[in-house]
Amino acid sequence: MRMVDVIDAKRNGGELTEEQIRFFVDGYTAGDIPDYQASALLMAIWFNGMAPEETRLLTQAMLESGDCLDLSDIPGVKVDKHSTGGVGDKVSIPLAPLVASLGIPVPMISGRGLGHTGGTLDKLEAIPGYTVELDEGRFKEQLREVGCVIAGATGNIAPADRRIYALRDVTDTVDSIPLIAGSIMSKKIASGTDALVMDVKTGAGAFMREEEDAVALARALVDIAHGSGMEAVAVISDMNQPLGRKIGNALEIEESVELLRGEGPADLLELVLAIGSQMVVMAGMADTPEEARPLLEARIADGSALERFRAMVEAQGGDGSVVDDFTVMPQAAYQFDLPAPRSGVVASMAADELGIASMMLGGGRATKDDELDYAVGLVLNKKVGDPVEEGESLLTIHSNREDVADVVDLVLDNIRIADAAEPVELVHRMVL
Ligand code: URA
Repeated sequence: MRMVDVIDAKRNGGELTEEQIRFFVDGYTAGDIPDYQASALLMAIWFNGMAPEETRLLTQAMLESGDCLDLSDIPGVKVDKHSTGGVGDKVSIPLAPLVASLGIPVPMISGRGLGHTGGTLDKLEAIPGYTVELDEGRFKEQLREVGCVIAGATGNIAPADRRIYALRDVTDTVDSIPLIAGSIMSKKIASGTDALVMDVKTGAGAFMREEEDAVALARALVDIAHGSGMEAVAVISDMNQPLGRKIGNALEIEESVELLRGEGPADLLELVLAIGSQMVVMAGMADTPEEARPLLEARIADGSALERFRAMVEAQGGDGSVVDDFTVMPQAAYQFDLPAPRSGVVASMAADELGIASMMLGGGRATKDDELDYAVGLVLNKKVGDPVEEGESLLTIHSNREDVADVVDLVLDNIRIADAAEPVELVHRMVL
């Protein structure tokens, strides 16, 4: 088989066969197919899509490129959560210890930043010592003893995804339903979880900007999960404005800890509880999400979720005192307030552009090998719907460079102040 024929078939709108899909996935993972041919195929998939059966075969080939974790000897229903990626989306970080504090095992395999979106692993690495690289033995031991793990795909989980993901990031082929579905589900099936809640983002800062595309992605994800015997639901949630108030690696750890102290912003808390309640129902600890919610709220109120977070951080080699003292993480040299240019109500804050602003400060990667600056980012002092007076601080820029004129321009262009704002609906709907 020749790679050029596989590219040709997809470029001309055809359906790839199982053999062709395996030829690409296995060949690229082994280093036999060069980046330029893989890029051409990814772009052809981006333009022409994949049928449900092709998407299933792609997922299967990526899954079989590596090993699967066997968690069957760990008691209880293992429940995981995955987001399609957003700005300020740190939900996984407080959610895993919160759900685990109810005795539900949460084995979470997370990713790094992609495009303008932040990555859970990058944020956790802002905590000194925290390692996201655990081998299978350590992963399972921590799951048994602490009840939750947030780590990168262990050694040989879906290595095809690791290579293809990095190539998509730099070839503008991220926002494709079959490619996202294959990427997420190959890792999730391989991670051995019994049940999964997906948070599929929609809006300006999401890979699926239109709600109907987000619903189609959610459908593809849930169908692949069900086809592999995994229980799954998807929440379609808003990503027009960033989630919470803090954007940036260390800043998002701060906000996660604040949430677990009972001091988190309302939208972040709402989404953590909405997703967490689904996880509790899937684990069989409540019959309905309404019944599950107070169980989670009680674990925040009594401090046990926060202590579980500390235990997870320490088990992964991190400095657990971050829970009491944020200054153990890198701090930015400068803080600049951005005054509102007029009075009114904040009508929009474009999540994608604010994500790019955080990247420009050094909080995200522009190329595969960029080093991150954990300290930098944005703190939103106003969000959509908030009234604001001219001159009042809209947000605070945390920077390690003194001149932030480029960031200020970008941010000002992307925050709209008007006389009134449309209400924000955080959870749009569920896909079962
Ligand atoms: N998250 C993933 O793991 N993969 C994608 O392609 C997008 C979001």
